[in-house]
This record gives sequence, C-alpha cells and structure tokens, in this order.
Amino acid sequence: MGGITPFTATDYPGQLAAAIFVQGCPWRCGYCHNPHLQKRTRGSPITWNDVLSLLKRRIGLIDAVVFSGGEPSIDPCLASAMVQVKRLGYKIGMHSGGTHPERLKSVLPMLDWIGLDIKAVFASYATVTQVAGSGAAALSSLRAVLDSGISYECRTTAHPALLPEPELLKLANTLADMGVENYALQVFRKQGCNDPILNSSMVGNYPSATLLTQMNKLFPAFTLRRG
Ligand code: SF4
Repeated sequence: MGGITPFTATDYPGQLAAAIFVQGCPWRCGYCHNPHLQKRTRGSPITWNDVLSLLKRRIGLIDAVVFSGGEPSIDPCLASAMVQVKRLGYKIGMHSGGTHPERLKSVLPMLDWIGLDIKAVFASYATVTQVAGSGAAALSSLRAVLDSGISYECRTTAHPALLPEPELLKLANTLADMGVENYALQVFRKQGCNDPILNSSMVGNYPSATLLTQMNKLFPAFTLRRG
C-alpha cells in the first residue's frame, strides 16, 4: 500500500470515506499529482493488516472506502482486498485510469461507484500517458463501466497543451456518443505537478465559455472543477 487517508469528503460523491492509495501505475502523465506512487516498491509505507485495523476502528464513522493510487487496477490483490473491506460493511469506490481493463472488469461487481479518468481522444492517449496502446485499455475499461450499470463519473484533466479546445470537444462528443452521462472537466492545477512545461503554459481563459456551454448540452450531468 502507498498510504491511506482516514477521512475524506471529496473522493466519493456524497459519502464520507477513507482513501487507500495503491502503489504503481504503468502510465506517465505529466500532470500526475501522485508521481511518488507511480513505482511499486518492495517495502510498503503501510501494511495491509494496518489498513484493515484502521478501517475496523472507523466503522460507524465513515460510509465508504475508495481505492485510489497510483492505479489500483495494477494490483493482483485488488479483488481480495475489496472483499475484505466490503465484509466490514463499507461501500466500495475506486479511482482508475483504466490501465488494466480485465482486472477492472473482475472487480466491477463489487464496486458501488467509480471515478474513471479519460485522458484524451482514445487514438491520441499516448500524448498524455506517454505509453503506446494506453488508449485501447482505457476504451475497453470505459465500455466495461458503462455496460456494468454502476454509478460512475468520467473525468478529464484539461490542459491546453495536451487538449486544445477542438480536441476537448472531439473527446466530449465521442464520450456523449458512447452514452456517457456523468462527466467532469477538471482544469489543470499547478499544485503538485512537477512538469515545468505544463506549469508554464496554462492559460487563464481555458476552457472558454463557448466550449463549456457545448459541454453542458452534451451531458445530462456536467461538472466543471477549477482550482
Ligand atoms: S494514470 Fe493517474 S496515477 Fe498514473 S501517471 Fe497518470 S495521473 Fe498518475
């Protein structure tokens, strides 16, 4: 485990939760806010038994546990960990980029909610993740989430150097055509980002009001997050 936040009101919509941070991610997004979790290490900052002990003490104080990262679907023990947490009576949430669609599919029946990152138009994913083939994995994961019928939010981190407005609109149209109804645009934040190019090339009026109006029309539930 990469760590745990014992209490969060912002990681699972409408629920008080604990967030568990799983180590490891195969992708290398320049805007990653948890780059220290991209590599899996032999020693864990916190053991799984310690995580479970903490969650047992929180019963009655929080509603849900969110598996975050890094990328939780990288972990072969994810399903087993979720079973143990669910037995404690918690709702299960997950933050994922969809890097491992087959593992994601295997845990979907246990999930109560998922926040799925959509990084770019699927054919251009590597411009953000720096990994060839990542778009196919993300597309497969999105299809699985939509087919599962579970509660979800698709979210995109928006930066003009990675997603110029025409690309952003193309992505939004693709998602709307696929049946995505719940979509959030998270405007890039400099805090926690180590990429000097991204940090220096953000423009204040991005995304434009015109684009946001179009987004609002495309999705029944559209959220803009800034700052
Ligand atoms: S997929 Fe998420 S965890 Fe992995 S590098 Fe990108 S932002 Fe970081």
